[in-house]
Amino acid sequence: MSVDPYMRGRMNDRKSYVPPFQLGETLYGGAVGEVVDSRADGFEPGDTVLHQLGWREISVVEARQAQNVDTSLAPASAYLGVLGMPGLTAYVGLLDIAQLREGDVVFVSGAAGAVGSLAGQIAKLRGHTVIGSAGSPEKVAYVRDELGFDVAFDYHDGPVHKQLRAAAPNGIDVYFDNVGGDHLEAAIGSLNTYGRVAMCGSISTYNATEAVPGPRNMFEVVGRRLSLRGYIILDHYDRHAAFAQEVGAWVRDGRVKFRETIVDGGVQAAPQAFIDLLRGANTGKMVVRIT
Ligand code: NDP
Repeated sequence: MSVDPYMRGRMNDRKSYVPPFQLGETLYGGAVGEVVDSRADGFEPGDTVLHQLGWREISVVEARQAQNVDTSLAPASAYLGVLGMPGLTAYVGLLDIAQLREGDVVFVSGAAGAVGSLAGQIAKLRGHTVIGSAGSPEKVAYVRDELGFDVAFDYHDGPVHKQLRAAAPNGIDVYFDNVGGDHLEAAIGSLNTYGRVAMCGSISTYNATEAVPGPRNMFEVVGRRLSLRGYIILDHYDRHAAFAQEVGAWVRDGRVKFRETIVDGGVQAAPQAFIDLLRGANTGKMVVRIT
């Protein structure tokens, strides 16, 4: 089963694009599993399916809410990450929301995570210069040496705006924002005229107990004609077929690399895995193995 940052928002009692989890009810979310019994056409015992009833060991899933996945292409867990919702989020955010154009210099935060690691690799595969930020020296090495980003830095090593300026002295054209806060402010400071931001997430603020101040340099958005566009991936499943074809081929031929942080221990281990995700214990997609 998947643990995802968006689940944090569902633990606050406020109106959002998905309703809050209810006290006393089982959580749910993305999971892949083996069919043990089926009354639906198209699903046989032994099939592997993607569904939304994670956080439990056995689920009764309606056929219309299950999707067969091809485990000859990648392990089932990849459909929770690079070939699943986070992968589609990277694809749509970069290509449709930020409208990646030839020659763009791209900055991706959360670059060692599920979404960020694919966003940066897609930009590299399309010939762009890509800068990434992540939260540890090991992650920085992974992003640069294994994923092929041109430059990567650890945001703990100094102010993000200084590190970004050093990494991209001529500025950036696209910012893929997974983090918000100081990263967003730094990106606004470094974006060239007509630059674009895919506002995907703001994980640095998810545990905040008080309203978080916005970037102090918002007026630069006007002067440099920047576009900052938020999106929720649920609205973009019409892009799934194109994503599955293009990214699926890259995964098959090894041009897209992906890692997973797999936590053993079943449902009991899932709450801690979720907390650890928000603290950055994962490289690549964080999943929990249910036994
Ligand atoms: P990740 O795999 O990137 O895991 C979360 C990562 O966030 C951690 O590993 C950690 O990495 C980083 N992080 C935690 N706290 C901070 C902080 N204070 N500052 C900077 N980085 C921090 O998760 P996902 O790839 O699943 O999600 C990435 C982002 O995309 C999230 O913001 C999520 O909400 C968003 N998202 C948005 C969707 C949409 O529809 N708009 C859909 C899916 C995801 P590190 O060690 O580098 O700090």
